[in-house]
Amino acid sequence: MHSFQYHKGVLHCENVSLAQVAKEAGTPVYAYSAATILDHYRRLDAAFAGIDHLICYAVKANSNIAILNLLARENSGFDIVSWGELFRVRKAGGKPEACTFAGVGKSEDEIRLALRQEILSFNVESESELKRIDAIARSLKRRAPVAVRVNPDVDAGTHKYISTGKSENKFGIGFERAMEVYAAAAKMPNIRIRGVQVHIGSQITTAAPFAEAVVKMAPLVSELSRSHGIEFFSIGGGIGIVYENSFASGDSKWWKKNGSITIESYAEAVIPHLKKLGVRILFEPGRLMVGNAGVLLTRVNYVKKTGKKTFVIVDAGMNDLIRPALYQGYHQIVPVKKPARAGTIVADVVGPICESGDFFAQDRAMPEPKEGDLLALMSAGAYGFSMASNYNSRPLPAEVLVKDGGAHLIRERQTSEDLVRGEKIPEE
Ligand SMILES: *Cc1c(COP(=O)(O)O)cnc(C)c1O
Repeated sequence: MHSFQYHKGVLHCENVSLAQVAKEAGTPVYAYSAATILDHYRRLDAAFAGIDHLICYAVKANSNIAILNLLARENSGFDIVSWGELFRVRKAGGKPEACTFAGVGKSEDEIRLALRQEILSFNVESESELKRIDAIARSLKRRAPVAVRVNPDVDAGTHKYISTGKSENKFGIGFERAMEVYAAAAKMPNIRIRGVQVHIGSQITTAAPFAEAVVKMAPLVSELSRSHGIEFFSIGGGIGIVYENSFASGDSKWWKKNGSITIESYAEAVIPHLKKLGVRILFEPGRLMVGNAGVLLTRVNYVKKTGKKTFVIVDAGMNDLIRPALYQGYHQIVPVKKPARAGTIVADVVGPICESGDFFAQDRAMPEPKEGDLLALMSAGAYGFSMASNYNSRPLPAEVLVKDGGAHLIRERQTSEDLVRGEKIPEE
């Protein structure tokens, strides 16, 4: 579901005109719908109402504190991957006790700081990390809560850069070794075993791989519950969204017909296997919460025709939204104002950055835009702004949240001074 639709030919987010948002905030600008984010959160929460559970939103998908605050008010937990994300969660009013800390390369400082904040769990990715956490906890005279991330070796059928649950990926501890690692953890005096975790990848568009992972893990979870008294099983995130036809994605019949995963089909596939485990279930959705809830607004700067191609050159670049360049991510591109009469062209939509990889679409059929027109890149709420950079010395874009009928600037566009902040020329 999302809250972007045309009213009188102008694309709106909820009831706010995106032409107006672009006029006030400038372009490029990200615009998000609070109602969409809350709808996703509440539907996932409701789908698992019959099971003791906690949703830990994966902060890396979109970490603006206004968005974290929306979810914190719903009593969401958070899945974090760095100290910086924990800092953001606290700024936003989230509770450290509801934070799980993931990632293969947690630094000593991060472990120390997270221990002091009394987070819910470190999701441990290696035996070296387990030993490190034990040692740091000892120095602080604390017990560190941990879950071991187990790699269930299932194929999520997603892009190789976002697949994490195969044995050749860097993530987690091999399924066959899990019991051994728990036995070692149980002997560490400053470790408190709390759970077990899996996360098989991202943008997974069918429910089957999730069910497969849960079925594979179930006997291990039962065994860990008996032998180590674990309290929770986190089944990770990774639920995919519809990128190709985001307007139809508001229509659950369309989803069903296309066999795409929905919150409901996901719940249906995993609940029967989870119910009997008798432990709390954690979820770590990122993309599902925010992906369809955001668009990137950009203005057409030039339309350039070469012998072979037409290039629509826009004012957003791969530094603002890297998904197409990084993993062939697809974004639907639509005009903010529907042209009354426009021919269809086939064009590459590209940014201003000095890289051939700086494109948003190639050979895309679209209504012919004019210079100065506004375009919306749909479904840009996840892994959009959070992956943005200053490459080519471009200021980070502004972000706007539409909430309760109003547009709120939740991040100012960077200034030129922001670009050089902290830089110094050595003295002669
Ligand atoms: C990135 C990540 C998530 C979120 O993935 P989505 O595909 O955005 O749902 C959840 N858990 C872990 C451990 C992750 O690394």
